[in-house]
Amino acid sequence: MLRKKILLFLAAGSVLAAAVWFAYVNTSSSKPVEGQTFSMGTIITQRLYGSNAKKAIEEANIKIKEIENKMTINNSGGLINKLNDMSAEHNGEWNVLDNETVYVLEKAKKYSELSGGAFDVTVGPLVKAWGIISGNPRIPPADEINRLLKLVDYKSISIQGSSAKLILPGQIADLGGIAKGYAGDAVLDIYRKNGIKSAFVNLGGNVVALGKKPDGSTWKIGIQNPRAENGKYLGIVSVSDKAVVSSGDYERFFERDGKRYHHILDPKTGYPADSGLIATTIVCGLSVDADALSTASFVLGLERGMKLVESIGEVEAIFITKDKKLYTTKGLKDIFTFSDESKEFEYVEKR
Ligand code: AMP
Ligand code: MG
Repeated sequence: MLRKKILLFLAAGSVLAAAVWFAYVNTSSSKPVEGQTFSMGTIITQRLYGSNAKKAIEEANIKIKEIENKMTINNSGGLINKLNDMSAEHNGEWNVLDNETVYVLEKAKKYSELSGGAFDVTVGPLVKAWGIISGNPRIPPADEINRLLKLVDYKSISIQGSSAKLILPGQIADLGGIAKGYAGDAVLDIYRKNGIKSAFVNLGGNVVALGKKPDGSTWKIGIQNPRAENGKYLGIVSVSDKAVVSSGDYERFFERDGKRYHHILDPKTGYPADSGLIATTIVCGLSVDADALSTASFVLGLERGMKLVESIGEVEAIFITKDKKLYTTKGLKDIFTFSDESKEFEYVEKR
């Protein structure tokens, strides 16, 4: 009788073990669920492993749209534009925003300060005048640029609790250099809440990786060759639980008389930044930080950009110069593999 009970127990045990094993195989190492959508002016790709993957992708898509609506200067009803409209109409009034918009605005202000205004959250009037993002690109006349430059000053944005205000009438806060980064972090929060342990999201060059791949290997993120078609890489960064965010003059630009005018503006000159860099990549824990830093260091150039990144800690970077040299911070040595099919770029290891 006892033997029968033990056998029954063992049999039940093996059924249970098989079920657990099946669930493990099915959720952890089976094929990923992939999603692709267009939001925030870019293609967004997600790849998730786990049983809630489909649900998490749907929730992430809704969240990304919500962030876009709140934070883009192209949506007249959005929260950031409430602040901007108020600055146009009622000089100096406080605007109640929400927690996440204030969080991103605070981050943007912090990186404006840290970069000495190379990243400037009030660059909006110039962004609008150049029209590169809105699809009506033009070269604004010099007197217009000079007039608008007076409105670009991150020091005139004040934040208190969940309210913010701009001091000068006509100032425009633009979160275009940081909002996609924030969206990457928000998407990872959704993955975690859905029990996902292994995933990545790519918001048009803002890549965020959660955990490792189910087989225990790291995520391999390609670094775009800024002078080749999309998908041609200059190397691979291997990461887990990291954001890998790139900025460059190849992302959005127009050409006039053989000259390239791109979307990252130098708040000191009012023209597209001409610092000697054509691309930057930042690798760090939070995508919101990586996004602000990639834009800031692009404007600062190799020397000052490298200095900024090294002053922060736990932030790594790749800088690609006009003369086709690729520089990395020390900490990338072990996780970056240079591989240039075009044979045009030179890898300058560790500075
Ligand atoms: P990213 O692609 O992240 O480097 O950001 C570029 C976007 O940030 C542009 O499309 C503008 O909306 C905005 N932007 C341009 N120049 C600057 C700047 N110097 N500081 C902050 N934001 C900027
Ligand atoms: Mg950025």
